[in-house]
Amino acid sequence: MIDNLRQIFKFLDGASNIQSIVNVLQEVFPLNAIYIYDSTTDSLRDFSKSWMFIKSKELNNIFKSFGEKKYITEGSYSYYALFNNGQIIGMLEFTEKLHSRLLEFLELSIFCISLKIQNIILSERMQKNIDFQDSMKNIAKIIETQYETGYIVPIIGEMIDKFVSDHLVYIFIDNKLVWPSACKDEKIFELIKCLNNNSEYILTPDRKIGLFPLISENKLLGCIVTKGTDTVLSDKEIEYLEQLSKQAATTINRANVYAEILKHATLDALTGFYNRRQLEERIRQEVSGVKRQKRSLCALMIDIDFFKNVNDTYGHAAGDLVLKTVARTIKQQLRDYDVAGRYGGEEFVILLPFTNLEEASMVGERLRKNIEKTKIDISKINPDAHVKNINVTISLGIHQYKPEESEEEFIKNADKALYDAKNSGRNKTVTKE
Ligand code: GH3
Ligand code: MG
Ligand code: MG
Repeated sequence: MIDNLRQIFKFLDGASNIQSIVNVLQEVFPLNAIYIYDSTTDSLRDFSKSWMFIKSKELNNIFKSFGEKKYITEGSYSYYALFNNGQIIGMLEFTEKLHSRLLEFLELSIFCISLKIQNIILSERMQKNIDFQDSMKNIAKIIETQYETGYIVPIIGEMIDKFVSDHLVYIFIDNKLVWPSACKDEKIFELIKCLNNNSEYILTPDRKIGLFPLISENKLLGCIVTKGTDTVLSDKEIEYLEQLSKQAATTINRANVYAEILKHATLDALTGFYNRRQLEERIRQEVSGVKRQKRSLCALMIDIDFFKNVNDTYGHAAGDLVLKTVARTIKQQLRDYDVAGRYGGEEFVILLPFTNLEEASMVGERLRKNIEKTKIDISKINPDAHVKNINVTISLGIHQYKPEESEEEFIKNADKALYDAKNSGRNKTVTKE
């Protein structure tokens, strides 16, 4: 007996995690589970099954009935109380009634077992602390180095996901789900509507859903939502999530500010197309992509016909409206990854990746026809004009990138095609091999 005790103490001493404690105890006892009482939820959790909540009322009642007793039998199962400083902190569950020898053995070792379990719980909490500090550090690092929300949000999402791994995590920006790709819980969408720029976190009464607003500089940017199916948020987790969401809000806000600055530096204010400088950068990128991957790329050079007449007849402001309208009409016809830039005054360059000459020609014709039929209402800008609506047409030159062409030659060839379109009557599409 004493030898057995010595041995179990020695093994327990060496156990460093939950599973090894369970293994050691199962060597000696018909152990089924270790339940620990969680005061936040007033219920038991399964220590050996990643802290799963025990819903069974029976088990919770058994735990509460310990009182002066240390050992309870229930059906074919039996239970023994775990103590810490005279308080019951949980219980061991056995698959059978314990015979007197094992009970005696347990009596002598329960203090040591309880202590060991306590220590493991403590060190787990400390690990969580370390994980939290790591997450905070990581978010801080992202703040310093990353400015794109598209990049930042998944990193923050995955970090929080790891941190509360037994919960689902969602990130919403401007009331829209941005991470991960789907959320089917209508209740979450309802709760989000309650948030404003002064909000504290929201916790549902069952503590299963938590909403942590992302507020920076007094603006509500969105929120982080956690949802547990079997588990609820502990006070400590809530405290951590609050801090993490504050840090995340600062990061996202900075990225938004940066994106705004970048937009002004790269986009043409009138048309919203890339400005000339950025267009040239994008041409370089697309051409080098084509060289690497041997895919097709076409350039459309577009010029508004007789645009000078528009300015001369209806005024410069009406001319600006025409430019804006033409740009918008073009943009509506393009795919997300097409590149639209303002090359000069009323000239645009469109890059169509993954597109051959024949397809580009069809796109060009579609653009041309759409512009031709677009009525532009200038009556607000020029009430004195003798007409309410005006129309313009465009000419297009199209060229497909040929291997070994420089970026300049690529665009120049599209320009040559445009020149031909102008010279052969305007309002037409000309392609150049
Ligand atoms: P073509 O059919 O040969 O292209 O004739 P066009 O009149 O369009 O050709 P041209 O290149 O001679 O005229 C371009 C005009 O575009 C001249 C310039 O005043 C005008 N323009 C350039 N940038 C802007 C702008 O930002 N706003 C306005 N309103 N006009 C502009
Ligand atoms: Mg023109
Ligand atoms: Mg021109």
